[in-house]
Amino acid sequence: VVGIAKAVKASGASILRGGAFKPRTSPYSFKGLAKEGLEILKTAREETGLPIITEVMDTRDVELVSSYVDMLQIGARNMQNFSLLTEVGRTNKPVLLKRGLSARVEEWLMAAEYIMSEGNENVVLCERGITTFETATRNTVDIAAVAVVNELSHLPIIVDPSHATGHSKYVPCVARAAIAAGADGLMIEVHNDPQNAMCDGPQSITPGQFDELMGRLAAISG
Ligand code: PEP
Ligand code: MN
Repeated sequence: VVGIAKAVKASGASILRGGAFKPRTSPYSFKGLAKEGLEILKTAREETGLPIITEVMDTRDVELVSSYVDMLQIGARNMQNFSLLTEVGRTNKPVLLKRGLSARVEEWLMAAEYIMSEGNENVVLCERGITTFETATRNTVDIAAVAVVNELSHLPIIVDPSHATGHSKYVPCVARAAIAAGADGLMIEVHNDPQNAMCDGPQSITPGQFDELMGRLAAISG
């Protein structure tokens, strides 16, 4: 993790995201290292100076996770977990709110209101694709949602082309499209050895590919 963090920082990344508590479709899949994972992220922050963000899945973990990280992530599966939204709304940590698997923009913005109505107005939205009939990609990326959110809300919006496509080869193209559409940032899964990743290897790009992509993105965001 520290090695990847150093590499992506050198390429221009401004925040490090890693999973300590991971929502998995199967309960038998690798679910993260919990507190040990938080410690690893903390070490990466100490070594690089990068702020860290991780997902919190349970109201019972909000206090622990908040004590480690600079930003909290609410995953797609929990976008309408109103007790969790309320709980993170009572912290002083910025929150990254991922769009639900089948959530309309309106429902997503209202989920953000749940956080903000508790007094925490530092919410960033993340488009990560929605469930459709299409199976060529893991989810269907809603690039238009970037424009819609920019119209309807003052909140920043970023795009996650990794979980959205599920395939590393499509990540650079969707990343470029997101920035061209007006996204404020990207969340990109990077792994030094994607084939042996504990999770989401097929959608992870290498540090070298990330560096090349960052160069191309700079030309678009100008
Ligand atoms: C993640 O970002 O680690 C993740 C599980 O993505 P999502 O909640 O969008 O499925
Ligand atoms: Mn992942």
